[in-house]
Amino acid sequence: MKLFVANWKMHKTRASARAFAEELGREVGGGTGGVELALAPSYPLLDAARDPQGRWALACQNVAAEAEGAYTGEVSAAMAADAGCAYAIVGHSERRRLFGEDGPVLARKIARCREAGLVPIYCIGETAEERDAGLTATTLVRQLDALVGDAPSRPLVVAYEPVWAIGSGRSASAEDCGAALVHVAEILSDRRDLRLLYGGSVTPENARSLLAAPRTDGFLIGGASLSATSFAAIARA
Ligand code: PEP
Repeated sequence: MKLFVANWKMHKTRASARAFAEELGREVGGGTGGVELALAPSYPLLDAARDPQGRWALACQNVAAEAEGAYTGEVSAAMAADAGCAYAIVGHSERRRLFGEDGPVLARKIARCREAGLVPIYCIGETAEERDAGLTATTLVRQLDALVGDAPSRPLVVAYEPVWAIGSGRSASAEDCGAALVHVAEILSDRRDLRLLYGGSVTPENARSLLAAPRTDGFLIGGASLSATSFAAIARA
């Protein structure tokens, strides 16, 4: 089933999250039309973003690499699961770039997700410099290394998000997106339950053509997911 994940990043309040959920409920009506939706708000907004009718799932944007203990400011995967999350975004490029998260840390976060029963949405993607240097494939292979210790029988979502496309208004072409996802699918060919998302400046206007790219099972959406109308329009594509 296609999966569309709204990454709200550090936006919204409880009131605006509630308003979004009400509007999304009106957009979706009785059902999501055979696609799966998930909202990834900041932790304090999880309750406000929840759908009492269960038409969309909840995701968190990050989890701690440790299970429990004296880690001031951290939120554990078990806490996120207890708060109703089904998914956890792990390794978003903003976490890698701004908070220095690297492969070994991300591998530990994935392990914590598994212990808590959360499905990781593991983000990978090359920077503009890596792309210009012809290092896209090498970068993806290196980033996928964090999955080496993760049992291939577990459900997994991988989001290919070229860093230069995130929040830039310049999405990857359907051709580049398809080529990257086919490569990722080959590397992860032992996986039994794998969904591959694209992320990076997805809008209602470009969603249909990007979704036609080979192996694209949905999107991770930032800016355009802040409006329920445009998030629903993307999912309808
Ligand atoms: C993201 O941050 O995951 C993302 C895809 O952002 P945007 O859609 O705004 O490019």
